[in-house]
Amino acid sequence: MAKKTIADVEVKGKRVLMRVDFNVPLEGGRVSDDRRIRAALETIHCVVDRGGRLILMSHLGRPEGSGFEQAFSLKPAAERLSELLGGSVPLAGDCIGDEAEAMARSLKDGDVMMLENLRFHKGEKKGDADFAARIAQLGDIYCNNAFGTCHREHASMVAVPRAMAGKPRVVGFLVEKEIKYLSEAIENPRRPFYAVLGGAKVSDKILAIENLLTKVDAILVGGAMAYTFLAAEHKKTGASLVEDDRVKDARRIIDEAAKSPAKLMLPLDHICGQEISHNTMTVISREVIPDAWMGLDIGPRTITLYSELIANAKTVIWNGPMGAFETPPFDVGTKEIALAVARATLLHQATTIIGGGDSAAALEKFNLTENVTHVSTGGGASLEMLEGRKFKSVELLDDQ
Ligand code: AMP
Repeated sequence: MAKKTIADVEVKGKRVLMRVDFNVPLEGGRVSDDRRIRAALETIHCVVDRGGRLILMSHLGRPEGSGFEQAFSLKPAAERLSELLGGSVPLAGDCIGDEAEAMARSLKDGDVMMLENLRFHKGEKKGDADFAARIAQLGDIYCNNAFGTCHREHASMVAVPRAMAGKPRVVGFLVEKEIKYLSEAIENPRRPFYAVLGGAKVSDKILAIENLLTKVDAILVGGAMAYTFLAAEHKKTGASLVEDDRVKDARRIIDEAAKSPAKLMLPLDHICGQEISHNTMTVISREVIPDAWMGLDIGPRTITLYSELIANAKTVIWNGPMGAFETPPFDVGTKEIALAVARATLLHQATTIIGGGDSAAALEKFNLTENVTHVSTGGGASLEMLEGRKFKSVELLDDQ
């Protein structure tokens, strides 16, 4: 069932405790990429423009968990947010304690404050209930707008909203959008529905593949993970990245796919090199990858086959690059598939959903981010949604 959003609750005069993902990169004490902060602005405005009193909380990086560490302070994020909002965003020196409580009490309608990094306390990652209760008392309304952390049962994600039972507990627009695309589009897809899966390791994606086989019309496999499947078919994979301990799983999935209506498609040809570097010699191989050569990208026949399928798709989910796309010439397959996905979106109104992490980075590299329906903000979280998992952090929030 759809979750209540921040737009569904009356916020005037209320303190809204909002979990955001301000885990931004820093350079020289400043935010070097503010996309995560900008992405939260719509939800932030929805509170402050209606007279709500906003308390933002986030983690940043991986501090020890035993108190303040300058390198992981959210101060640069608070400064960047104040620039974007055109007003001051004070930062409490700790996410719990007297200072945070006093600052929260003195908020006026439309004010915004931030709490210092949640992970300065071990209780955050442990999901500690006592730690959570001290944060929970700061707010009258809880809002989860941190999709990238939704698969983690950290205190701010689960124990805090649990401690706020009886008060409104809602999603922000970022989480609402991610759920809409990653779960609703998958449960009721327009067909044909294809999943394009790539990336380095099949081990990361086994559960997603098994779940998707029950939903999609075909899975188009690329990237290094294809070689574990090809090894399971006793093909010669040369020096390609094969996960030997996963060959059995790959075999099982091939057999499962043979019995299911969904097809599991493997690359027909490969661009091979002897090393991952710009000026290395390449060969195209089909059935056999010679010894000492690695499959580093999908080949031209595979690109044509996958692109033709994608051109007719009504729903596409893509997670993981088709090759070692960071290093040309092994970026061609990923780029061509990205173009095919963008064309399907623009020319055929296909719903196209890109998992976070490397696929999002690839899309950005090729300047195609604006040409797909949805790019997920959470790598790990989006993969877990493809596995069909439910997140406690979202389930316990109020239904519409
Ligand atoms: P993942 O994090 O599992 O999505 O994997 C992404 C990484 O896989 C990227 O850094 C790619 O360079 C790498 N990759 C994709 N295909 C290959 C390949 N055929 N051989 C080696 N690395 C690859």
